[in-house]
Amino acid sequence: MSTRIVKYDNDILGLDQGMVRAFLILGKEQALLLDAGVERDPGFPELIRQATDLPVSLCLSHSDMDHIANAGDFDRIFILSSEKKRLLAQKPELSDRLIEIDEGYEFDLGGRKLSSIHCPGHTPGSLALLEEERSLLLSGDTVSYGPVYMFGKGRDDKAYLETLVRLEEMYESGAFQSIYPCHNSCPIDCQAITELIECIKGIMDGSLSGVPTSMRDQEGRRVLEYHVGKSGIYHI
Ligand SMILES: [Zn+2]
Repeated sequence: MSTRIVKYDNDILGLDQGMVRAFLILGKEQALLLDAGVERDPGFPELIRQATDLPVSLCLSHSDMDHIANAGDFDRIFILSSEKKRLLAQKPELSDRLIEIDEGYEFDLGGRKLSSIHCPGHTPGSLALLEEERSLLLSGDTVSYGPVYMFGKGRDDKAYLETLVRLEEMYESGAFQSIYPCHNSCPIDCQAITELIECIKGIMDGSLSGVPTSMRDQEGRRVLEYHVGKSGIYHI
């Protein structure tokens, strides 16, 4: 597996591993890497060194295995406190490098500031990064054309709906205009949030029907794919 660099607007680089991407956000004094890929790539640190000579810290949008594979390459790893336990269950060796943060933590990269938003639902301590000055949201897995995985341990439909409604309100109040997700198309607009709200509501109240996929959950139950517009959710 090799990682490919993709250039986006706003001094953001994507570290693309096919099914998932991490983001390298470049400030004037520091760079912040959001997530660390799905597969171990020994070339990961070198790729980052070629992209920037700024000091780089890692921030994890959440602890699903497709976002943490190369986390061990970094000395400082920011994570929401509500996600720490879940990460350490998979990678206990990272414990002494974790820096626990909460909602509203500000990353000052020199010339640009991003703040953390707690987005429970996909996982308990899912995080998004908001950069108000550039009107952008790095949404992790909370918002994408996915489909978003909402089955298995740690998922919470009600919390996810509340998070999406909050993000839609933030969008409507002008906090951001474009969204940089870790999966599928990038960047995307707020339509995805509106569609995901309708989708998770339809799953919760039973008004939406899903199409069977080839996936099964840990208990052997068939995973269904639900769709509204371009957005989708995998759910039991
Ligand atoms: Zn993911």
